[in-house]
Amino acid sequence: MEIEIATIGGYEEVGRQMTAVRAGDDIVIFDMGLNLSKVLIHDNIRTEGMHSLDLIDMGAIPDDRVMSDLEGDVQAIVPTHGHLDHIGAISKLAHRYDAPIVGTPFTIELVSDDAEEEQKFDLDNDLVKMEAGETMTIGDHGCELEFVNVTHSIIQAINPVLHTPEGAIVYGLDKRMDHNPVIGDPIDMDRFREIGREGVLCYIEDCTNANKKGRTPSENVAREHLRDVLYSMEDYDGAILASTFSSHIARVKSLIEFARDIGRTPILLGRSMETYSGTAKQIGVDFPSDVEMVGYRRSIEQTLERIMNEGKENFLPIVTGHQGEPRALLTRMARGETEFELEPGDKVVYSARVIPEPTNEGQRYQAEKLLAMQGARVYSDIHVSGHLCQEGHYTMLDALQPENIIPAHQDLSGLSGYVDLATDQGYTLGRDIHITSNGNVIQIN
Ligand SMILES: [Zn+2]
Repeated sequence: MEIEIATIGGYEEVGRQMTAVRAGDDIVIFDMGLNLSKVLIHDNIRTEGMHSLDLIDMGAIPDDRVMSDLEGDVQAIVPTHGHLDHIGAISKLAHRYDAPIVGTPFTIELVSDDAEEEQKFDLDNDLVKMEAGETMTIGDHGCELEFVNVTHSIIQAINPVLHTPEGAIVYGLDKRMDHNPVIGDPIDMDRFREIGREGVLCYIEDCTNANKKGRTPSENVAREHLRDVLYSMEDYDGAILASTFSSHIARVKSLIEFARDIGRTPILLGRSMETYSGTAKQIGVDFPSDVEMVGYRRSIEQTLERIMNEGKENFLPIVTGHQGEPRALLTRMARGETEFELEPGDKVVYSARVIPEPTNEGQRYQAEKLLAMQGARVYSDIHVSGHLCQEGHYTMLDALQPENIIPAHQDLSGLSGYVDLATDQGYTLGRDIHITSNGNVIQIN
């Protein structure tokens, strides 16, 4: 059986991930993501009404025209987790394929939410929920799709494995190795080792942190850091604000719990806070069910007014804007555009790192400066990454022993640390390490 891998998006950048694997006549697509920075660089662009081809020209979504070079039928579209760089193009591209979208329940709910916002295309693909540990038959030629549980900065992330008669194709985006996550099960290393013993033909790896030494800590390390910071504020009688990735349900949960521990009422404010946490609550994950969530601009204003009237020392608003996004709530608060008044000594907790990209860095710098001008004390970087560093990569190679490796989810310089590491393990660039770019098809056997 011929195995080909089309590296469609996310092989020259972090963002707009998309990969297709052809095993004989059967094709499975992994991820269809959006590169949000390519959208945000333009002022006031709304993607909901835009055509796929315009978004492809902007570099915002994968250029899937290379799919016509693959001879076979798409049997499934498999988003690995709910981050936008993995699901954000589904509403623009999936309708072109006569195939179901298969993902974990949380991911599928987010895909479905995104499709509802879409104005240009109708997503009429079947939405199929499959849990980690489950498998599904692909086509009629002996292929099986399996979801292996992994841990990442969003709940219900999986690494899909396509078992073919020629060996397994393991799609390794995105993960860190967490043996003690705040929500959900630890990464299933036993299963990865088993799959390694059965034989891995190709491993596609998340190289986000491939140039970083050491090991990515558990989410519990960020949780303890956050606990320490918030407990230290227990006696403060002014405002405490916090912001994090809205999609980071485990982190939001920790913020809610520690807010209550120090005697404050947590309130989630902002549209994306409401979307992600509302979805988590709806599918019944281990998340506080009684927390107030406010998404719409007018209701947010009313809530902020209420907080000011009842005393801001009684609340802990968890708000959007951790990257300093100009229109997000925390940035608007920093500019003094809301009812919420900051006073000298008030605390602002960023439980996120700045995404290392000039636009984000500039915006976040500006937001922090504006907060400081009002006398706020800023606590930054209370966070751990969701991606493997070098020791995690070593452990994965040791577990899987793949015949071929395709590094992904980075630009060329970002991949270099991974090539060095794999070379040390006996792999050779151009022979079994395949550095590729967007729009290539690699024949793997
Ligand atoms: Zn991710």
